[in-house]
Amino acid sequence: MPECEICGRKEDKLVPVSIEGAVLLACSSCARGKTPVKTYFTEMKKPAIVKKKREEPEYELADDYAEKIKKTRQAKGLSVEEFAKKISESVSVVRKMEAGKMIPTMKTAQKIRHLFGLKLYERIEEE
Ligand SMILES: [Zn+2]
Repeated sequence: MPECEICGRKEDKLVPVSIEGAVLLACSSCARGKTPVKTYFTEMKKPAIVKKKREEPEYELADDYAEKIKKTRQAKGLSVEEFAKKISESVSVVRKMEAGKMIPTMKTAQKIRHLFGLKLYERIEEE
């Protein structure tokens, strides 16, 4: 059972009250006449969760990224060499990506998206 932070009495439900700028958990008798702080707990918990979501967005690479890259390149009539030059990558990197042996970096994926309108990463949106 939690204890009142003012008198030390044990009580089931303690009320957060504001006393001289500090928030203390008080029993019902100590809380009488004091200013109750109803939003104390929710205010303490919310910022941490929101911050984490904004700092770590999750992206998911398309399963068939290799095929998508190859098809897009061929549809534009570009050779591997020409495609590599356009996205500022080496020929071997493009070959590996098309073979599914190398995952495109976020930077490369963004270039491909801008130049060819091919979206390789989907952002996972959370509720
Ligand atoms: Zn008390």
